[in-house]
Amino acid sequence: MAKISINLATGSLQKEEIIVGIDLGTTNSLVAFINPDKNPQVINDTGKGVLVPSVVHFNAQGDAIVGNEAKAFLITDPANTIFSVKRLLGRSYKDVAGHQDTFSYKIIDDETEALVKIRAGGKFYTPIELSAQILKELKARAEHALKTPVNRAVITVPAYFNDSQRQATRDAGRLAGIDVLRIVNEPTAASLAYGLGLDPNQQKTIAVYDLGGGTFDVSILSIQNGIFEVLSTNGNTFLGGDDFDRAIVHYWIEKNRLDTHILQEDNALMQSLRLQAEAAKKALSNQNLYNEKLGDIWCTIDKQTFESLIAPKVTETIDSCAQALRDARLSITDIDEVVLVGGSTRTPYVKQQVAEFFGREPHDQINPDEVVALGAAIQADILAGNRSDILLLDVTPLSLGIETMGGLMDIIIPRNAKVPTKAGRQYTTSVDGQVNMKISVFQGERDLVAENRKLAEFELKGIPAMPAGLPKIDINFLLNADGILTVQAIELRSGVKQEIDVKPSYGLTDETVEKMLIDSITYAKSDVAQRMLIEARSEGEQLVYTAERFIEKHGSYLSTEEISKTRKHIEALRTALQQPEKDEILKRTDELNEYTRPFAERVMDVAVSAAMKGKSIDRE
Ligand code: ADP
Ligand code: MG
Repeated sequence: MAKISINLATGSLQKEEIIVGIDLGTTNSLVAFINPDKNPQVINDTGKGVLVPSVVHFNAQGDAIVGNEAKAFLITDPANTIFSVKRLLGRSYKDVAGHQDTFSYKIIDDETEALVKIRAGGKFYTPIELSAQILKELKARAEHALKTPVNRAVITVPAYFNDSQRQATRDAGRLAGIDVLRIVNEPTAASLAYGLGLDPNQQKTIAVYDLGGGTFDVSILSIQNGIFEVLSTNGNTFLGGDDFDRAIVHYWIEKNRLDTHILQEDNALMQSLRLQAEAAKKALSNQNLYNEKLGDIWCTIDKQTFESLIAPKVTETIDSCAQALRDARLSITDIDEVVLVGGSTRTPYVKQQVAEFFGREPHDQINPDEVVALGAAIQADILAGNRSDILLLDVTPLSLGIETMGGLMDIIIPRNAKVPTKAGRQYTTSVDGQVNMKISVFQGERDLVAENRKLAEFELKGIPAMPAGLPKIDINFLLNADGILTVQAIELRSGVKQEIDVKPSYGLTDETVEKMLIDSITYAKSDVAQRMLIEARSEGEQLVYTAERFIEKHGSYLSTEEISKTRKHIEALRTALQQPEKDEILKRTDELNEYTRPFAERVMDVAVSAAMKGKSIDRE
C-alpha cells in the first residue's frame, strides 16, 4: 500500500503538471500555486483580481456566472443569485433550520435530515453543484493564468467541517473536473504558509484566529513531527465582517433619520448602503475617517465610532478563544504562535484585541485573505513529492465505503487518508420491522458501487423489530498500519454486532488504481447526475411510503378533502418517480411535503414522526 500511495503522488504525474491549492471560502475563493522559484503565489487572472467572490448567478436560460459579475446581481436578481453556499455544503435542513432568513434565495425544505437543495430559476441545485460552479471558475482562471491544464488540487475546509461536509467538498471538486488530492484544514494551511510545521523537529502549539465575511472560528493546533492535530475549535458560523457592515448601516440609518419601513421595501437601496458600509470599513483599516455621500444620504463614520460599534462582536470572538483554550486544556502561556486569517483581521481593532488576549504579536505579514490558499499550495507541493525534506506518510490509494440504496457508494474512509485511520457513520433501517441489514464493502471513487471494487459483504442479523428509522446502526471502518480493514456493524440499542476483516490492497495493481482515478474524473458529471437522480428517487419513494402509512394510521385526524388532496399529491409524485427527471421528482416531493407538513404536526405520535424524520441506510 505504501508503494502505491507514493506512486500516486509522484510517479503518475507529468513533470509540468501544477497542483494548485484552493481556498473555497464562504465569501471569497482563490487559487495559489508554487511558482518556478519555489515560492507560493496567488493567481491573479488578468485584471480580474485575486479574490473571486463565492457568488453564483443563474440567468433565465440557467447559465451560471461566478464572481464579481455575479455579485452585481445580488441587488437586481437576489432570488437567482446564490451566496454563502459553503454554509449549506453537506448540510441537512435540520442543520440550517432557523437561518433561512439569512438567505435571499429559496432553500427547499422537504425533509429535515435530507441534504439541502436550492431553487433558482425553476431548477433545483445541490450545494455541491453550486460549489462546483465556483471551482470550475477558479480552475478556468488558473488555467488561463498559468497557460497549462490544472487537474489536481488540494482544497481547504474549516477544521470543524464534519465527514459529510468534507465529502461534499470532494464531490464538488470532482464535478468541476478536479482530482482532489486532499482536503486540508484551513488553520493547518495557514500555519504552513507561515512555515510552521515544515520542520519535522519542531514541536509547537498554535492558535489560528480566522475572521472572514460571515464566519468566525479559532483553532488550537499542535504540531509534532510535521503532523498537525486539531486540539480544539470554537467559533460562530454566523459572525463575521458582514456584521461589521450591518452595524455601520444601522448607524447611518439612525444618523440620517432614515425611515426603516421604506428601507425594508427598498432592497436595492439597502444593498447599496451595505456595499458603501463595506467600503467604509475597509477604508477605516487604513484611515481615521470615512466621509462619502450615497444620493442624499451622508455616509460618514470615524474610526473610534466604528470600533465601539463592533466591540461586542469582537469580544464574542475573544470569548471563543478563551473557550477553545479551555477545551484544549491549555492556558495562554502554552501557545507558541498566533496566526491571523480572514479579511476581517485587517481591521486594526481586531488585531489589537487578539494580540492583547494572547499576550503576543500575531503573524499578520501575509495577506490574511490569501494565507489559506498559499498554505494549500504548499501542501499540494508536499503531496507532489517535490519536497524531499518532508516524509510522505502511507495513505489509502482509493476510497473505502459501503453500498446504500440504489447502489450508491457511501464513502467512509476517503482516498489519500493517512494510515492507520478509523472512521464511522450511523445508519438506520428503511422498512418497518427490518431485522437484517446487508453490508457490502467497496473500494473506489465512482458514485455507483457497480463501477467500484467489491471487497466484502456480510449481514448484520438479529436487529430487534422496530419502526423504520429507529434502529441506530454504527458502521465503523478501521484500517490498520498493515493495510487490514476491519468493518464493524453494531446496532446500538440491542448491542447486536458483526465484524469482518479484509485487505483492500489484495490483487490491486497500480494500473487499476490509475484507471479507477482517471475514470472517476471522466465520468464525474454523469456519476453525479445519476447519484442525484437516485437520491431524489429514494427520497421520493420514502415520502410516498411514509405519507401512505400516515393516511392509513392517522387518517382519522384528516378531513376527507385533505385525504383526497394528499392522495393526489402522492399520485403526482409516483408518476414523477417513473421518469428520470430529477427536478420534476424534487418538485413533486416538495409539494407533497409542503402540503402534508401541518398534518404531521397535528398528530403527536412520536414513533411516526421519528420514522418520517429518520435517516435510513437506503438513502444516506
Ligand atoms: P471568507 O473566508 O469568509 O470567504 P475572507 O477571508 O475573504 O472571507 O474575508 C472577507 C471579509 O473580509 C469581508 O467581510 C470583507 O469586507 C473583509 N475585509 C476585506 N478587506 C478588509 C479590510 N481592508 N478591512 C476590513 N475588512 C476587510
Ligand atoms: Mg476563509
